[in-house]
Amino acid sequence: MLHSESTFTETAPPTDTDTLPVMEAFYTLQGEGKQAGKAAYFIRLGGCDVGCHWCDVKESWDAQAHPRQGVAAIVAGALKYPGRMAVVTGGEPLMYDLGTLTKSLQEAGFQTNIETSGVYPVTGRWDWICFSPKKFKVPHPGIYEVAHELKVIIYNPSDFAFAEAHAARVAEGCALLLQPEWSRHERMLPQIIDYIKDNPKWQMSLQTHKYMDIP
Ligand code: SF4
Repeated sequence: MLHSESTFTETAPPTDTDTLPVMEAFYTLQGEGKQAGKAAYFIRLGGCDVGCHWCDVKESWDAQAHPRQGVAAIVAGALKYPGRMAVVTGGEPLMYDLGTLTKSLQEAGFQTNIETSGVYPVTGRWDWICFSPKKFKVPHPGIYEVAHELKVIIYNPSDFAFAEAHAARVAEGCALLLQPEWSRHERMLPQIIDYIKDNPKWQMSLQTHKYMDIP
């Protein structure tokens, strides 16, 4: 028999998708991208094999370093705060089947957002998919048709061509954002500003949480 939605019940026996390695979870404002400025509960999953040399959460890479938590406990943590936007990030969150987590979050009233490099097939139910491709690992082709937002990190000038190559593949209506890599933002910001003025389909994304000094 094919599994149906009804297999996701509170009485179902635990499976691998019922527990996930959580590095940290916290309530803050979404700092970057199209949803910037909104209150959000971040769920950062451990585990990433993309290997960006400028990654600012390298402590997330080793999934074994982060104890697995049950989905019910993760959702209960989110429900302690008034905001109803959950952002699942990493690490690379799509290393895991996120069907159970997203179903539980939505049933609890959350908008489900994800931030992903897109290198694994998309699982889960998402209200907003932020696809941030990286040069270090090729994205899975399925991400292009489902992404709501393409957010490309600009570390050096060659990243503009990388951004355009991905923009040519996303669906119509997908928001296009360029974001300076934090350690290089003073150097790259003027180039990004000029690029957006010349190519107005793009929009600036700044890591405003770093300016606000919040997580
Ligand atoms: S995909 Fe994200 S978490 Fe993984 S190495 Fe790159 S920046 Fe770090």
